[in-house]
Amino acid sequence: MTLRAAVRAVLAVVIVPAAVLAGERARSTGPAGGAATSARREKVARAALALRDRLVAQRRDFHMHPELSNREERTAGVVAERLRALGLTDVRTGVARHGVTALLVGGKPGPVVAVRADMDALPIQETIDVPYKSQVAGVKHACGHDVHTTVELGVAEVLAGMKAEIPGTVKFIFQPAEEGSPAGEEGGAPLMIKEGAMENPRPAAIFGLHTNPNVDVGQIAYMSGPAMASSDHLYITIRGKSAHGAQPHAGVDAVVVAAECITALQNIRSRRIDPLEPLVITIGTIHGGVRNNVIAAEVKMEGTMRTLSEDVRQRAKALVRETLQSITAAYGATFELNMDENAVVTFNEPSLVLETLPTIRGVVGDANVVAIKPLMPAEDFAYFQKVVPGFYYFLGVGNRAKGITAGWHTPEFDVDEDSLVVGVKVMSNVLLEYLERHAAAGK
Ligand SMILES: [Zn+2]
Ligand SMILES: [Zn+2]
Repeated sequence: MTLRAAVRAVLAVVIVPAAVLAGERARSTGPAGGAATSARREKVARAALALRDRLVAQRRDFHMHPELSNREERTAGVVAERLRALGLTDVRTGVARHGVTALLVGGKPGPVVAVRADMDALPIQETIDVPYKSQVAGVKHACGHDVHTTVELGVAEVLAGMKAEIPGTVKFIFQPAEEGSPAGEEGGAPLMIKEGAMENPRPAAIFGLHTNPNVDVGQIAYMSGPAMASSDHLYITIRGKSAHGAQPHAGVDAVVVAAECITALQNIRSRRIDPLEPLVITIGTIHGGVRNNVIAAEVKMEGTMRTLSEDVRQRAKALVRETLQSITAAYGATFELNMDENAVVTFNEPSLVLETLPTIRGVVGDANVVAIKPLMPAEDFAYFQKVVPGFYYFLGVGNRAKGITAGWHTPEFDVDEDSLVVGVKVMSNVLLEYLERHAAAGK
């Protein structure tokens, strides 16, 4: 989840009524079970459990050596070395600076499926006193990407041990700079895609997971359809004309015009867009003027805009421009507007969610799979989902009894490490059963 996305999201875990889940199960594709499936799930569970201590050690190693976006050199080195040791092929490094991709070609014919983990940390000073405390001042894995990387390496190990029986190919993607590249640098999912990570071979679908401290360890949370918001960074400059503070009619007061603009931008949310469509427009900074008794010639503002629909996003972007245009014109001021796209909507393809849920339920149990509301933070996994259908779900890492409740991007963020085995089990089975289903269907 991106740094810029951490605007104090209020997260509500909504347990969907049993009747809804039952209906969803009825519509899903065929039975989840079968003797062969059960046996394979047990085999995966044993393999994942056997990795437990090493998963914990690996996650702690990453946690103690966090690296900022586009600087994940050590992490990528550990990842590439591990993938090579496991016998994966076509291990490519340096994709989008420090990204790594690799293939596990199964022993049976079948399609290609991808799994993605992000590797970067955040410029946050860790405050919790744990044996695996960050050893880098001011840098911390506060979003759980250490968990994501560890889980995906665990999945690679489990699946490498079952290579002969895998019908198809798993493409492993380890991505840098999910939290946002440093100013002036490209990075993250868009750059990986630009540099060919989704080609040769192109996967038919992609899966990913994210830690969620609001979901208990042992549980998986998901959304079907829009899952996380788009994010656009707004840069606004209002230009007026300076004058004596006691003679405002001789100038154009950029502060007053900016105030009108801010109010009017909020009215886009309340009066111009369908109330049933989520939209947030936040002006987060405002700077202008030089003195108490001088009419301000210029005001600069920055903000963020979040939606769960591309249509709403495009409409809102047009309305922001139109609003600034009209209000500044009414007062004889001018404006400049730049909108930088940080992320598009994370969209979980409903049919892929539906066909995958029986696997997840089969692994963690029906009661441990919870549907939650979409989140307004953004996630650049969304760009992979623009290339092929994808499903991004949440791995429960919270544990109230152990006091593990701190939110993403906080100095206290931590995870219950029991989540590592759960993550490996679930993702391994999700990938295996995707390949089984689609190899059988011939697509
Ligand atoms: Zn994040
Ligand atoms: Zn994240």
